Amino acid sequence: MAASQSHSASDAYDVVVVGAGFAGMYMLHRLRGLGLKARVYEQGGDVGGTWYWNRYPGARCDVESMQYSYSWSDELQQEWDWSERYAPQPEILRYAGHVADRFDLRKDIQFDTRVASAVFDERDNRWTVTLGDGADVRARFVILATGCLSNAKMPDLPGLSDFAGQIYHTGHWPHDAVDFTGLKVGVVGTGSSAIQSIPVIAEQASQLTVFQRTANFSVPARNAALTPDERQSFRDNYPEIRRKAREEMKNGIVQELPDKGAHDDSDDARRDKYHARWTRGGLTFMGAYNNLSLDKAANDTAADFIRERIAEIVADPETAKLLQPDDHPVGSKRICVDTDYYAAFNRDNVRLVNLRANPIETITATGLRSGGVDYPLDALVLATGFDAMTGSVAKIDIRGRDGTALNAKWSAGPRTYLGLMSAGFPNLFLITGPGSPSVLSNMIVAIEQHVDWISDCLAAMRDRGLETMEADVAAEDDWVAHVNEVAQGTLYPQANSWYMGANVPGKPRIFMPYIGGIPVYGQKIKDVAANGYEGFVMTGAATEKKRAAM
Ligand code: NAP
Repeated sequence: MAASQSHSASDAYDVVVVGAGFAGMYMLHRLRGLGLKARVYEQGGDVGGTWYWNRYPGARCDVESMQYSYSWSDELQQEWDWSERYAPQPEILRYAGHVADRFDLRKDIQFDTRVASAVFDERDNRWTVTLGDGADVRARFVILATGCLSNAKMPDLPGLSDFAGQIYHTGHWPHDAVDFTGLKVGVVGTGSSAIQSIPVIAEQASQLTVFQRTANFSVPARNAALTPDERQSFRDNYPEIRRKAREEMKNGIVQELPDKGAHDDSDDARRDKYHARWTRGGLTFMGAYNNLSLDKAANDTAADFIRERIAEIVADPETAKLLQPDDHPVGSKRICVDTDYYAAFNRDNVRLVNLRANPIETITATGLRSGGVDYPLDALVLATGFDAMTGSVAKIDIRGRDGTALNAKWSAGPRTYLGLMSAGFPNLFLITGPGSPSVLSNMIVAIEQHVDWISDCLAAMRDRGLETMEADVAAEDDWVAHVNEVAQGTLYPQANSWYMGANVPGKPRIFMPYIGGIPVYGQKIKDVAANGYEGFVMTGAATEKKRAAM
């Protein structure tokens, strides 16, 4: 599968791309279309990014597959058959593999290769990229397609290394099948990954103990096989669906848009609306009203509705109470989408442990101790999330002008202009970086928006004989302030979420993604380009640095 060869120190490329997930794959395709010499380095053994690593039981997308798919090749979207409303991880990975085959991408991707550092040389405006094996390659441009949720976070649990059984992290799951049949399994965490895997693990394990620190809101997926008619309806309407996703839908997911706030409906009408969304299933539950992420009282109505459903589903009142989130507005953490999550707690072999009341004391050789109770375990599943948005970038030692380290510049939180570039790091682009809509949207839509913009930008630079491009400091400061200001006007900062970096001890608390939404943001970056790449500083070949008159 990993067909490519290693390259020698003398290799020089127009562009080095880091990562061969959905962002890196499409970026490579566009770079080739521009006739640029590009090389992609990927840590995994094949394409797929997050879908290559997250192989835990029950893993599937929470955006409907007919929408969580590339729009840039009509042949591709017409020929690929998604089997279910929400495709399972193996199918999404097969899709990524199919795209790689169809567009012959693998020959320019070097797999099993970590990028250790990238250093900008101001003498010739080139990046030196050092790979994990010490080899150097040079490139004019570096594009970080490193993914927002790709850096699995191992919790710092005392005694973890003493555990005698197998330890798994959902974000770094083994490639061989894991069989929990007859085992006593513990799951730490109750985020999206845990919520998807718990019902599946519960069917195998003799005993499943779920260790919960914070309860999360989850809505049913209502996953089902797609009928040929449903698939065809999308295919017939794809140009309009894709246009709407980019131009009209804040989160890049085509859905019925709300035209009023939660209190503009009577109590009965509101309940009916929530019921209809709950029955339909999926993330669009949060689209019932237009003020659910803005107004706490409105949000409470949705949160109460979900809490009522939990109480209805879960038989044991004490367990139901524990599963009802009460410390953050619904949607201020990514809402989860599940299949039979709450019902899993009605099984005789599943129990819930409240880590808030009884924090983990230690992992022992034979289990987990919390609140003075030893829970015997044969296997431990850590569904503890990711160092999101910046974690994978931070692992690369990136040095820009004057040898400045990106990690040092970002020590108080990431700073970018439009989530695309960071001042002082010329010709270094981020795809779906902090400061762009990224994780608040259908990632494929956000990825395509960035890849298209970067491709057009590289073409414009070539046409105009420009050598470097970088974010202007003042433009970046303004954008960071704007991203923060928009976030502060919503309920999002009220949660200790990974959007805020709150799940990583010591990480600065900055709301990282841009809440303005895909259409507003798309218009903004389009205008920036149309206005001569306003807010970026460009230099021509062998000219003094100047604001580009493009
Ligand atoms: P997550 O949302 O960050 O959840 C991590 C869980 O682990 C939380 O319940 C957290 O509790 C707990 N935890 C972390 N460290 C702990 C510790 N030391 N002790 C006890 N509990 C600890 O991570 P995730 O579930 O992997 O999901 C991350 C994101 O990936 C999602 O929000 C979603 O965007 C994406 N995702 C999507 C899908 C999908 O498409 N269907 C599936 C999976 C993931 P606290 O809340 O108390 O910190």
